[in-house]
Amino acid sequence: MSLIVQKFGGTSVAGPDRIKHVAKRIVATRRAGHQVVVVVSAPGDMTDELIGMARQIADPVPARELDVLLSTGEQVSIALLAMAILAEGAEAISLTGAQAQIKTEHVHTRARIVAVNRSRIDRELAAGRIVIVAGFQGITDDEEITTLGRGGSDTTAVALASALGADLCQIYTDVEGVFSADPRLVPEARRLQEISYDELLEMASSGALVVQTRAAEMAMQHRVRLEVRSSFVDREGTVVTDSAFERQKLVTGVTHDTNVAKITVTGVGDRPGTAHTLFRAVAGRQVNVNLIIQSVPRTERADISFTVAKADMLAAVEAARSVAAAIGAEEILADDQVAMVSIVGAGMISNPGVAARMFGALAAQKINIQLIATSEIKVSCVIPAGDVTAAVRALHKEFVLDRT
Ligand code: ADP
Ligand code: ASP
Ligand code: MG
Repeated sequence: MSLIVQKFGGTSVAGPDRIKHVAKRIVATRRAGHQVVVVVSAPGDMTDELIGMARQIADPVPARELDVLLSTGEQVSIALLAMAILAEGAEAISLTGAQAQIKTEHVHTRARIVAVNRSRIDRELAAGRIVIVAGFQGITDDEEITTLGRGGSDTTAVALASALGADLCQIYTDVEGVFSADPRLVPEARRLQEISYDELLEMASSGALVVQTRAAEMAMQHRVRLEVRSSFVDREGTVVTDSAFERQKLVTGVTHDTNVAKITVTGVGDRPGTAHTLFRAVAGRQVNVNLIIQSVPRTERADISFTVAKADMLAAVEAARSVAAAIGAEEILADDQVAMVSIVGAGMISNPGVAARMFGALAAQKINIQLIATSEIKVSCVIPAGDVTAAVRALHKEFVLDRT
């Protein structure tokens, strides 16, 4: 008998009919002889709605209470899904993150899972039940409710699969797998049959919402067998593998991220320690920095640009201001009308000229590149926000991703 973890996203459990449909699929897996642990997200747009309500009441929203509020969304899903499974005549029990003993660090709204104590889940499985766990939430050692960041149910699923030594972790969502670009933006995007862990991680971290970055990271670290597929149609999805061999292609996917703001600090003294001072101040405000570029346009003066999530823009500016005198900064500029487009593919490691082709395709669309960053298997460009759709479509075409 094998153990399968199945995760269903918000769209998949939006409303009674979809919940009943999902319940049938889960019960079918159970009746095929597998043990099943299910992870669910809050139904539909409930998380967004709860955040909206909180904002109408408080600004800033107290993070601890926001986590208590948001965790209720997933609690709605687990209870309704358990009821639907019981109605199908199978045994099931719902568990909150705390009941399932998903332990996290004591950080609100973006906690990391530090451990999963499997004893309760094991007991329920041993009693023959399908165990339904609330995604996106956990509990600290001092019994505070935490959430794992947007899209965090994916991470709950991968963490459970890893802790339980599951044979397979299936992410069921509203698209048929991981695509060569966001199918909402590029109608010709095609489903990838397989993708490597590192490509999935780079795609996730550069904006492909389909799997949360931490889930991709954890799946890679613990080599969790992962599959992304549709909860609406019963078709094969995308399998995540050690090394994917769609290798006729240099580029596997194009991603975009509109949740980006750019900060530029000009005239910084060109001497050891300035970058350290600046980014220590930024990190001190719990702001994650993505891409960093330093250039030295004039003798002894450097400009440093970096990107952060839009919500962190003001905190980043304040951080830079707090050390402006110490680093000799002249100006601090912030721009949230930007986006990042990236090309990802393990095939580009040994192929020079891929970046140049990317810049050429953007130039042909008259798109101005503001910042560039590269890794072994990714090239990212920060561009004006208004150009993002044209950029993604042009890159998808340039690298012939619409054809197998
Ligand atoms: P869920 O609620 O199931 O977690 P999400 O909305 O978080 O679903 O993620 C699925 C969405 O991710 C899709 O509807 C799609 O628009 C978006 N997406 C962005 N990039 C990609 C990609 N490369 N492949 C597939 N989906 C993508
Ligand atoms: N409900 C949470 C969110 O909307 C977690 C998730 O969907 O994975 O971000
Ligand atoms: Mg998601």
